[in-house]
Amino acid sequence: MQDFLLNHEMAVRATAFVSVFLIVALAEIIAPRRKGANRLKRWPLNLGMVVLGSLAIRMIVPLIAVEAALRAADADIGLFNLVDLPRWVELVAAILLLDLTIYAQHVAFHRIPLLWRIHRMHHSDLMLDATSGIRFHPFEFVLSMLIKVGVVTALGADVVAVIVFEILLNATAMFNHGNLHLPERLDRMVRRILVTPDFHLVHHSTLRRDHDTNYGFNLPWWDYAFGTYKARPDKGLKDMQIGLPQWRSQDQLGLKTLLWTPFLSNSPNNKKGTPPAHERQHP
Ligand SMILES: [Zn+2]
Repeated sequence: MQDFLLNHEMAVRATAFVSVFLIVALAEIIAPRRKGANRLKRWPLNLGMVVLGSLAIRMIVPLIAVEAALRAADADIGLFNLVDLPRWVELVAAILLLDLTIYAQHVAFHRIPLLWRIHRMHHSDLMLDATSGIRFHPFEFVLSMLIKVGVVTALGADVVAVIVFEILLNATAMFNHGNLHLPERLDRMVRRILVTPDFHLVHHSTLRRDHDTNYGFNLPWWDYAFGTYKARPDKGLKDMQIGLPQWRSQDQLGLKTLLWTPFLSNSPNNKKGTPPAHERQHP
């Protein structure tokens, strides 16, 4: 299993990525949660970001997480290389801890103004679908890969756990950003163990008091445990607005703007007076 995953890492990840993307995209066309996907304008941008982000990772960050795991094992460093636990325990623990790391990193990207400038490009999308789940600024790709390399090394995480986690994260991000609507009872059951599209939709509301909640990508448990869970956005799922107040039209969101998001002003263009405190945006 380990040899197969290592020898075919790119192929396995690419197959999982393309299959889940096609399934979610097809389901979105058959039963869209919201109308007006504006795919012709949004998809080239969102997919373009994936290409740029991947290039940035490959070029700027020589150490990817999988390599970090192999190096830690070779050097016999990191928590799991020092303690003697059954392999399945190490695998499960590494996946859980990596997921907790991604949760904590996401909280930091919202709470630290400089990091929010990088992360808000992801939030500027005016609709949500499978492509939004992979639309991150190249800076964010690089930063999160560096954080992952650090955590994988500190944990001495098993290389299989790292590859499985990468696949899971990619797949669940596309699923929970999907323009999908699970029946309410099913959603209630699924969100006990997995972040659902309606769970994550709250996180893309234009209102800060909504989008500073529901940070989980795979497991919803961290939001439940740390008090960052919100079941419904203030205006309800049907009436809530997706995106950020300073960018309300697709024409404002060209590739150049998306790339320059970290350096742009924070104030909404259409600001009328000072908004009430609970609607005020990030500093
Ligand atoms: Zn976010």
